[in-house]
Amino acid sequence: MTTTKIEWADSVWNPIVGCTPISPGCLNCYAARQSMRMHRMGTRGYEPRDGVRIAEVRFGRPVFTGDVRFIEQALKLPFTRRKPTTWFVNSMSDLWHESLQRAHINEVLNVIMDTPRHHYIALTKRPRRAAEHSAEREFPANLCVGASAEDQRTYRQRMPWLRGAQARLRCLSLEPLLGPIDLLDLTASDVCMVIAGGESGPDARPCDINWLRSLRDQCAERGIPYFCKQLGRRPVHDCPPSTGLSCLRCGMATRVRDPKGANQAEWPTDLRGHRPPWPWVDMDETDHQEWLRESERKMDQD
Ligand code: SF4
Ligand SMILES: [Zn+2]
Repeated sequence: MTTTKIEWADSVWNPIVGCTPISPGCLNCYAARQSMRMHRMGTRGYEPRDGVRIAEVRFGRPVFTGDVRFIEQALKLPFTRRKPTTWFVNSMSDLWHESLQRAHINEVLNVIMDTPRHHYIALTKRPRRAAEHSAEREFPANLCVGASAEDQRTYRQRMPWLRGAQARLRCLSLEPLLGPIDLLDLTASDVCMVIAGGESGPDARPCDINWLRSLRDQCAERGIPYFCKQLGRRPVHDCPPSTGLSCLRCGMATRVRDPKGANQAEWPTDLRGHRPPWPWVDMDETDHQEWLRESERKMDQD
């Protein structure tokens, strides 16, 4: 299965699986939960190896054990897809996990480089390692390197490293958003897009929709495209109580039914109407080629 319900990508590609929790955003890691499922279903790559499981239940939650695996059979998958596709790289891991050998990460980057018809997005909570890696080798032009952060502390730690990653495109994923974030000195030349969203899943923590609004406004001030992906399972809403199906003041559903809060019809009216504004979406082939050349020129100047 490679198609995805993630709004900002067409397909997932997992040449590496497994991870280690690193910050509060990892508490309800969806990938660890999925890995437990794949393990139960007997999916190749997710079985115990030498008695070590890829993920296990600790304190009632699925958690990655730190067993990170390179899945050789999955490596060539993008070559089999002729249609230009936006791939989410390693939805079940972190491409710059500390225990991965550089050689394996480079194999993944080489496949990306050799399939220029596709676009790739790799999100990491370890942008420091991505930045260090980018100083050693050229990153493919069709790769967007994204850092994930969930609150002000992780944003402060990771954003400078993301900025230091020598990639043609960089983005920020602020999901699961666990607190308000001041974007500080972020500029439109640092990132091509900010994605934000509340947490989903059975133990989701609340997300205040004013945090999502604030990010939208901060991005607008800076001229950075913003994509509000979902309100999460437990959106917090500060309008006076309303009767009826939706809030009289902002239009948000009185009871949000979508488990991820991803149904825009249930959102406050001022947050609706987004879709992922990747720079390459909606370009025809000539414009696309021109855009590629232009951004390569910009990267050379940096
Ligand atoms: S870094 Fe990502 S994949 Fe790894 S444990 Fe945290 S949330 Fe899960
Ligand atoms: Zn309201």
